[in-house]
Amino acid sequence: MRTYEQSIAKHQAAKQHLAGGVASSLRASMKPTPLYAKSAKAACITDVDGNTYIDYLLAYGPLILGHAHDGLNESIHQALLNGATYGLQHDGEIKLADLLTEVLPCAEKVSLSGSGTEAVMLALRLSRAYTNKTKVVRFHGHYHGWSDSIFTSFPSSDMSQKASDDRAAAIPPGTFGQSENSLDDIILLPWNDPEALESTLRTRGHEIAAVITEPVMCNSGCIQPKAGYLALMRKLTQELNIVMIMDEVITGFRLSLGGAHGRFDIRPDLVVIGKAMGGGIAISAVAGNAEIMKLVDEGKVSHLGTLNGNCVSTAAAIATISHLAQDNGAAYKHMETLFTELADGIRALLSKHSIPGVVNQIGPVMHMMFIDAIEVNDFETFNKRDAAQYTRFAELMLEEGVLLRPNGLWYISTAHQSAEIEATLRAMDRVFVQLT
Ligand code: PLP
Repeated sequence: MRTYEQSIAKHQAAKQHLAGGVASSLRASMKPTPLYAKSAKAACITDVDGNTYIDYLLAYGPLILGHAHDGLNESIHQALLNGATYGLQHDGEIKLADLLTEVLPCAEKVSLSGSGTEAVMLALRLSRAYTNKTKVVRFHGHYHGWSDSIFTSFPSSDMSQKASDDRAAAIPPGTFGQSENSLDDIILLPWNDPEALESTLRTRGHEIAAVITEPVMCNSGCIQPKAGYLALMRKLTQELNIVMIMDEVITGFRLSLGGAHGRFDIRPDLVVIGKAMGGGIAISAVAGNAEIMKLVDEGKVSHLGTLNGNCVSTAAAIATISHLAQDNGAAYKHMETLFTELADGIRALLSKHSIPGVVNQIGPVMHMMFIDAIEVNDFETFNKRDAAQYTRFAELMLEEGVLLRPNGLWYISTAHQSAEIEATLRAMDRVFVQLT
C-alpha cells in the first residue's frame, strides 16, 4: 500500500500562502491528494513519498520527449549560460520561426507567445482586425484557454443548446469573476454538425470574424472530426471571409510534425500551437497566412509579452522539434505503435472484465471512459460517461504505480517503451478486479 503522507502534508502547508494550494486550478482535483513531485526521468516520475509512477499525465501534454530528456536539457542549459532572456532580439527567434514555417504546412509567418491562452488571444485579435468583424464561433466541449472572451464551461452538458440568435443565449461563463458581457461575441455550436455550421455561417457570416476549433475534440473524449467536416469548415470560411483558426495546442507536434492540419491535410488560416512545442518549457505560437500575420508586421495588431521568444523557450522548442523531426518521423511511429498497443490492450481488458467502456485513440493521445456505449463519437454521448468511476479508477491506478489525469485524457512520450505499456496493462488487469 502506497502512502502519500508527504504530499498531503505539503499540500496543507502550501495552502497557507499559495492560493488553492496549487499553481493551476485543475491540479487540485487529483485524488487522493495533489501529488508533490521530487524527480522525474524519461517515462517515470517519483513523488516526495518515494512512489514512482509510469507517467501518462505528462504535465498535461507538453512532455512529448518524456521527462528530463538529455538533448533537450543540454540545449536549455547552453541557452541559460548565455543569458535566459534579453528583451533584445536573438538568433533563436529567427531559427525557430524558420523551423516552424518549414514544418507546419499552413505557416507562412509566426508570432511567439508564452502559453496557449495568450496565443489564442492573438489569433482572435488578428481575425477581428483582418475581417473587421467581431463574432467568433466556438464549439461545445472544446477548450481554448481561460481568457475571458472565450472561456465557457467545458465540457458542457447542454448539447440541446443549438446555434441561437438570442443574445441571452446564456453561454455559461467558465468562472466567477468573468464579466457577464465577456462572451457576448461568442456563438456556441455543436461540433461535428455540418448543418449547424453551414446554416450559422451562411446566415451570420457577415458578423463572424473567426471559427475556432480543436481539430480533434481532445478535451472532450478525443473525438475525431467526421469525414469532410473540417474540409467543409475550410470551404465555408474561405467563401464567407471568415478566419479559420485551428487550435492545435494539444495536437500540434503531437499528431504529427505538421500537427493535425498536416495529418488531415487541411490548411486553416491560423493555427495555435503550444504544449508539446516546448517539450515542457513555456512557449506557444500563432502560425499561418502571411496576409493575416502582416497585421503584426504593420503594427496594426499589438502582440506583446515581456518573455515572448526568450532564449530558453526558443532553444527548448528548436531542440524538441528537431528531435521529433529526426529519422523521418520515427518518433511518431514509435508513439503511435505503443499507444495503439495500449489502447487495444485496454479494450481487451474492458471486455475480459465485462466493464463497459470506450477508448478513443489517435496517435499519441487518447481518452478512456467508462460508458455503456459501443462508441463515443459525439459530445452528447461523451457526457454520459461515468466520470466518478473514472476518478476512482485513476486513484486505484496510482496505487499500482500509474499516473493518470483524472479526466480520462492520456498522453504518451517518445521515452515510453513496451515494458511500460505491458506494466500498465498488468496493473489495469488488477485494478479492474477491484472496480467490478
Ligand atoms: N487550447 C487547447 C486545445 C488546450 O487544450 C489548452 C490547454 O489545455 C489551451 C488552449 C490553453 O493552453 P495553456 O494552458 O498553455 O494556456
